Amino acid sequence: MQVQKIGSRGILFNLPSQPFSVQIYCIKSPNYLFIIDTGVVLENQMKEVKKYLEENNLLAEPVVIINTHQHHDHIGGNGVIESDIIIGHTLSSERIKQTVELLENYEAYKPAIKTLKPPNLTFEKRIVFDEEGVEIFYSLGHTEDSASCYDRVDKILIVGDTLVHPLPSINWHELDRFIETLENYKKIDFNKMILGHEKVLEDAEFIDETIEYIKRFKALDVDFTVFTDVHALMYRWGLVNLAENLKRAGKEVKAKKYYLKAKSDIENPIIKPKDEKEYRGMIEEIEKGIKDLRK
Ligand SMILES: [Zn+2]
Repeated sequence: MQVQKIGSRGILFNLPSQPFSVQIYCIKSPNYLFIIDTGVVLENQMKEVKKYLEENNLLAEPVVIINTHQHHDHIGGNGVIESDIIIGHTLSSERIKQTVELLENYEAYKPAIKTLKPPNLTFEKRIVFDEEGVEIFYSLGHTEDSASCYDRVDKILIVGDTLVHPLPSINWHELDRFIETLENYKKIDFNKMILGHEKVLEDAEFIDETIEYIKRFKALDVDFTVFTDVHALMYRWGLVNLAENLKRAGKEVKAKKYYLKAKSDIENPIIKPKDEKEYRGMIEEIEKGIKDLRK
């Protein structure tokens, strides 16, 4: 675990995970300790964070947990540190069902599903802790329930998975709303952006790169000739996840377009998974998706 002090009152924890490291951010405000995201289900990142917070006497004030969204790599440790308040978007309870559905496919995760602790304080647009200088706002795009956090004192923007380096993690089908959220980020006066995985960024350049990629992705016009393995991973799963989400939303014609693009692109050596199991799984998912559409 790497620990980095940020600004006057932030602590960033970076913990190993695959394919990306996980970042958990804490804000020590006058009356609370805010913890933004809590790591991966079954990976116990929060245990290490808790140990550090205990050893440094940072758990004297009540803890408020904030979930940027309900993916399983952001909510895993919601129950590790005692906290009366877990904040998430109004759609959290709906989205967590999809996470549970996904985890149910894996035997090892089944016991953990029962211990998942969903948000108990939800908001639609914004929730502000005025005296603490902390605000949480709706920032849909990566998922429909995505939220971001802004520390007004240190001007730190915590974005969850709205920004992923090197390429955006595309799941939800309303890509124009995703772009809107990113455009809104550019209006925020921030010193640093904390990403849910891997990175801390200091300027808006990467926001523009992300917007550009999403536009190209939407048009199925991504040039992947210079892709690394990580780019390829984000790209192929972006296609499949988007198709899945379009199917779920009843947008069958569009869904088919992305399924077919995934089907052909994963045969390209740049995009094809190196791992045979992933490759087989992906083909199965695409075939099943297309078959469901024909029903
Ligand atoms: Zn996510």
